[in-house]
This record gives sequence, C-alpha cells and structure tokens, in this order.
Amino acid sequence: MVLLGSTGSIGVNTLEVAKKFNIKIEVLVCGKNIELLNKQIKIHNPKVVVISNKDDIKDVRHKNVYAGQENIVRAIEDSESDLVVNALVGFLGLRPTLSALACGKRIALANKESLVACGNFIDRSKIQPIDSEHFGLWYLMQDKPVSKMIITASGGAFRNWDLDRLKNATLADTQKHPNWSMGQKITIDSATMVNKMFELLEARWLFGEGKYDAIIETKSLIHALIDFKDGSTTAHFAHANMQLPIAYALDKKMDKNILKHVDLLKIGNLEFRQIDKNRYPIWEIKEDLLKNPNMGVVVNAANEVAIQKFINKEIDFMSISNIIIDTYEKYTQMPSSIDDVFAIDKEIRESI
Ligand code: NDP
Repeated sequence: MVLLGSTGSIGVNTLEVAKKFNIKIEVLVCGKNIELLNKQIKIHNPKVVVISNKDDIKDVRHKNVYAGQENIVRAIEDSESDLVVNALVGFLGLRPTLSALACGKRIALANKESLVACGNFIDRSKIQPIDSEHFGLWYLMQDKPVSKMIITASGGAFRNWDLDRLKNATLADTQKHPNWSMGQKITIDSATMVNKMFELLEARWLFGEGKYDAIIETKSLIHALIDFKDGSTTAHFAHANMQLPIAYALDKKMDKNILKHVDLLKIGNLEFRQIDKNRYPIWEIKEDLLKNPNMGVVVNAANEVAIQKFINKEIDFMSISNIIIDTYEKYTQMPSSIDDVFAIDKEIRESI
C-alpha cells in the first residue's frame, strides 16, 4: 500500500497493523520527522519516499526520495498498489485523496479534512474511513429503519475546566487529552469540539441524509450509537485504540483479534453529558452546517487559519471558535465543483 503521513499518530499505528498482517509498503510519505522516517524505511523497505522539504532529502536513507506536494500526487499515480492510506493532517490531504480516487485506488481515509471540505465531490463508495466513530456506525448498521445516528465525544482537554479559565488555555493545555493520544491539530480540534462537528459532517457524507447528533461519553469506550425506528438503541463498545478501525480499513474481512474486549465489570459506570454551547461555542452552528454540508470548506479553512494563529500566540483559545463562527456567518457562497472548493479555501485563508 501507499501510506501518506507515516510518521503521525495514525501513520505509526497503520504500520503496526501492516506489520501484523504482512502488508507490503510501496510508498512512505511524511513531513519533517526524518529520524522516525529512517527507522520506518529500515523496517518496511518502501520503493519510494516523499517528504515535505527538499533540504531534508540528503538526510533520508533511501535512494528514491522526492519532496513536495506534487511529488506526493506523482508517487500515488506511479504506484502499483491498489490501496492508499491517507493519514496526512489538514486540507493538504485533499489533493492526494482526489488523485488516489482518480487512479481508481481504494482509499482508507483518516484525513477527515478531505471529506469535510469536499465531501460532495468525492466518490464515497471507494472510501473506508479510519475513525472510531464512523467505524462504530458502520459496524452497528443493519438492514433496519434508522431514526438517528449518534457519535460520542470525550469532551477534550477542557471538559472539566471552569469556563472563565478557558480563554487563558495554552497550546500545551490543549494537548492533555483525557483518553486518546493523537496528533497536535486533532487534539486542539477535540478541545474546541470542532473535531466532533467534522465527524458529524463526515457521517452525513458517508451514510447519507438523516438525523445525526453527538453526546459526550467521558471514558471513550462507546464510539457510536444507533437509534432504530422500533425504539431499540445499539452501542459500539471498544477500547480507545485506532488499530481496530485501521485494521478494518485495510481489510474489510478482518477476522482476527485486534483488541482486548471491554470488561463492563471493570468499567463500573459510564457518564454521558450534553455538549454545552458555553464550553464549546462552535456547537451554535452545528445544526445549520449539517443542513448546508457544502459549507464544510469554509469552516475547515477558518479553523486551520485560527489554529495557526493560536499556535503563534496571536489569539487566545476561545477566539478559534469565534473566528470560525464569524467566517461562517459572513460567507454564504457554496462550492459547486472541486475547483470551487480550492478557490473558496484560498479566499477564506486570505481573508482572515
Ligand atoms: P499527526 O499530526 O500525528 O500526523 C500527520 C502526518 O502528516 C505526519 O506524518 C506528518 O509528518 C505529515 N505531514 C504534515 N505536513 C506534511 C506535508 N506538508 N507533507 C507531507 N507530510 C506531511 O496527525 P494524526 O495522525 O493525528 O491525524 C492525521 C489525520 O487523521 C487528521 O486528519 C486527523 O484529523 C485524522 N484522525 C486522527 C485520529 C487519531 O487518532 N490521531 C483519529 C481519527 C482521524 P511529520 O510528522 O513527519 O512532519
């Protein structure tokens, strides 16, 4: 397979799963973590490697190393593998998703920004999402009328903070996620609840129109629930470990044990909470966004710009959500093509 984002949290887990199931790696793509990349090259022996910066090529221990986004696309186009795992972070993952689909490859998609920004123009039938919530919904789905699909959130790093402390939260504070160990951006997105809003949008694109919602489950042991029309509700339990959705994304016929079962007696109790708009102001636009899912490109671009400003200490933590909401309310143009998605993304980035 081709693995994009090999040095990230999903990338590293994907290589673990690939090793377990003897899946060969044809291409490794990463950004700047050359030390880890060199270790991965030694173990997995890829044919081609792509990194983000030309200057780092000399430090990579491989004879076929390229740099830059055009070379990610070229490596996909030139590859023989039928499967591309896209674990890049951010909007930069969209072009590789489109190119893999244009080449007729299957795509295991962790890069949620691809679907959030461009879901309407992507052939979703070729996509297996790598996310515990969508995996949970997919696992629960059966041939019965559904009334609502519900995904769970942990509440992120600030779920128990006093509200008046939130505006002073630092980048280091955002990274103290209670249950999951993930990359920097998605951990910030968990603290603002933007991540859950993105997942609702993804669910909308993956499973079609319908009712979607999210609630907080503080232990991250239930990932999804389905309310069926008949009054039954089913829930998907699994330990917080991405190797389960990754294994199924690589091979849908997965029949081996991946994780230990959740032991309900050891858990003792579970706690559910509503998502509070005071703590997570982004929830204000959730319903409207679900009615207008093509606006995902606007929310995504505003979020990426706002996160960068927060990292640069130009704005405080609560301003991330405020910038997204302001941009969303000002901007009404919807994309009607892939070109529009790229144009709107550019326009939003230049306007904030
Ligand atoms: P990380 O930040 O841990 O990893 C991102 C990867 O992208 C790294 O390999 C990084 O390389 C690479 N990368 C960044 N910029 C470039 C670039 N310009 N060119 C090439 N490679 C680049 O993120 P995660 O693994 O946490 O998340 C990846 C995606 O999966 C995100 O969209 C996230 O929302 C989604 N996701 C993540 C989950 C998780 O549990 N982590 C769960 C569900 C979805 P390097 O580090 O070498 O610079």
